[in-house]
Amino acid sequence: MIFTDTHTHLYSEQFKADRAQMMHRTIDARVRRLFLPNIDVQSIQPMLDLVWEFPENCFPMMGLHPCSVDEHVEAHLFQIQKWFKKRKFYAVGEIGLDYYWSTEFKEQQISAFKKQCQWAIQYDLPVVIHSRNSTADIISIIKEINHQKLRGIFHCFSGTDVEAEEIVSLGFYLGIGGVLTYNKSTLPDAIANIGLEHLVLETDSPYLAPIPYRGKRNESSYLLFVAEKLAEIKNVSIEKVAAVTTENSTKIFGI
Ligand SMILES: [Zn+2]
Repeated sequence: MIFTDTHTHLYSEQFKADRAQMMHRTIDARVRRLFLPNIDVQSIQPMLDLVWEFPENCFPMMGLHPCSVDEHVEAHLFQIQKWFKKRKFYAVGEIGLDYYWSTEFKEQQISAFKKQCQWAIQYDLPVVIHSRNSTADIISIIKEINHQKLRGIFHCFSGTDVEAEEIVSLGFYLGIGGVLTYNKSTLPDAIANIGLEHLVLETDSPYLAPIPYRGKRNESSYLLFVAEKLAEIKNVSIEKVAAVTTENSTKIFGI
């Protein structure tokens, strides 16, 4: 049994002091496949350093996070797009819209998201989508682009049952993380009618640690708490959750 963390920022500064130990805890916990979303131009090198150190376990993505979109967006996108010619990436991510932290650059966020969706189609890669207070806009952009190659994951899904059904009907997967374990989480109800074949696991480390580590720094070894909770909700074994969600990740990322 192995697990796949489809969204984890293990190259973050927050692991600077104990990154090697954390990586070994994660691998020992059988979380063996780690997909690393990029954030901005500055995060590329630390991300690729970690991939270089753990090439069997770490798989990088390339993209500009919506919270890093500012007045220099075109320059950031220019730098980021060049990387697709330099090496293999497994997704365009993380990309999307975030209206929670700021809507100052809303128009730029929308155009950066659309542009990066076009890259994904061009390079035949999945997208890994960050949506915060913006799910309706993201869904309508995906429908507007309406391309069969446009596929991927709604990372850290936390919407309603109606949104879950709609995302699945578009052929996208839902990324399920620590929020599933929180006491008042509405996520178990939202995904009650969604089959395991549409779900993938993620931690979003160092953020959103599951119970019993809520509020602390998250790491990929804690993915097991999310997997256990999902097994309980779906009334299946943890082995089944590990197998199906890993198989889904293989279908998405092609590895
Ligand atoms: Zn992320």
